[in-house]
Amino acid sequence: MLRAVQLGLRGEAMDSSTIWMCLFCAACMARCPAGIDIPKVLETVRHISMREGRPPASKEVALFQRLFLGQVAGMGRVHELSLGGSYNLRSGHLMSNVGLVPRMLTRRKLSLLPHRKGARWFKKLLSRERKARD
Ligand code: SF4
Repeated sequence: MLRAVQLGLRGEAMDSSTIWMCLFCAACMARCPAGIDIPKVLETVRHISMREGRPPASKEVALFQRLFLGQVAGMGRVHELSLGGSYNLRSGHLMSNVGLVPRMLTRRKLSLLPHRKGARWFKKLLSRERKARD
C-alpha cells in the first residue's frame, strides 16, 4: 500500500481494500522503524478516494464511516446506541450485535441518550476548520 503511494500508483492505492480495513489503532505507527504515520496515509488515501467518488472496496465500512462522521459533525461526538441502530438499519444487518445492548446498557458502556456537552464548541471548531480549508 505504502509502496503504491510512493510510486504514485493512485488507482492501485485507492482501490485497495486496505484503506477500508484500518481501524486507526496506531499500533503499526508505534512500531514502524521508519517512523511513518501509516494510519494517516491510509486515512488520506481513503478521503481522496471518497472525494473522487470511487466505489469503496468495503461498502459496510464506508457506510459506518459516513454515519460516524455525520454524528460527529452534528453532535460533536458519537452516540453509540443510535450509531449502531442506524448502521444496522441501513446495512440490512438488523440484528447485528443487538443481543449485547442490554448488558452494555446495564454496565453503562452505552447510554440511552446522546451527550450534548461540547457539541456547540465542536461545531464552531469544525466550521472554522472548513473555512480555513476553503
Ligand atoms: S493503524 Fe496500523 S495496525 Fe492499526 S489497523 Fe490501521 S494499519 Fe492496522
